[in-house]
Amino acid sequence: MLQLTYDFHIHTCLSPCADDDMTPTNIVMMAALKGLDVIAITDHNTCKNCKASIEIGKKNDILVLPGMELTTSEEVHVICLFADLEDAMRFDTYVYERLIKVKNKENIFGNQIVVDEDEKEIDREEYLLINATTIGFSEVYEVVKAYHGVMIPAHIDKNSNSVISNLGFLPPDSRFSCVELSKLENKECLLDSNPYLSQCRVISDSDAHSLGQINEPIHVLLAKRKSASEVLNALKGLEP
Ligand SMILES: [Zn+2]
Ligand SMILES: [Zn+2]
Repeated sequence: MLQLTYDFHIHTCLSPCADDDMTPTNIVMMAALKGLDVIAITDHNTCKNCKASIEIGKKNDILVLPGMELTTSEEVHVICLFADLEDAMRFDTYVYERLIKVKNKENIFGNQIVVDEDEKEIDREEYLLINATTIGFSEVYEVVKAYHGVMIPAHIDKNSNSVISNLGFLPPDSRFSCVELSKLENKECLLDSNPYLSQCRVISDSDAHSLGQINEPIHVLLAKRKSASEVLNALKGLEP
């Protein structure tokens, strides 16, 4: 088994709340500088900066997973990761059709910039990406599975936009097998009221909106190979 240092929750300049210098190149360079093996690009309700990020990652020996931080109809944030860019982009289309459309106001919410591999701006998303979608939390597992991805309820220990804060608990009939905590040490105090957590792999990511927030190589995932499909397999499986 390989020990891979990871950060699976990073926003690019396409998320309105992230810094404009969170370009794919800057993110990959920072990940390389920090010594991370694998990262995921998880903008709010979009995968449109994943392609450039993956290509830049390949040139710099950083494995980049295409992903998204989905906002459900209950305003719960869920990290959705894919092994394959095409699956991610088909999921992107599915989500975009279900995004509640309100025009972005750049001076209030921030810019939503799509870039290519050369850092060139190729598009600006006109609708506000931090809005909710009409996808219910209980639907997410099946939808993401249909695109061969894995769902990871995001920052479940936070007081807003988390499954526990917004629904009250981890539903006992859930089917996901991995959750994200902003701090791993918060697991113990959540276990009592959320017994489902004992069945889950727990990961911790940076949720970086600026370059300096990207994780140090402190969290490790064991995988058979440094490949997107093996990383996804590791996340789907139980703790070794
Ligand atoms: Zn979030
Ligand atoms: Zn986030």
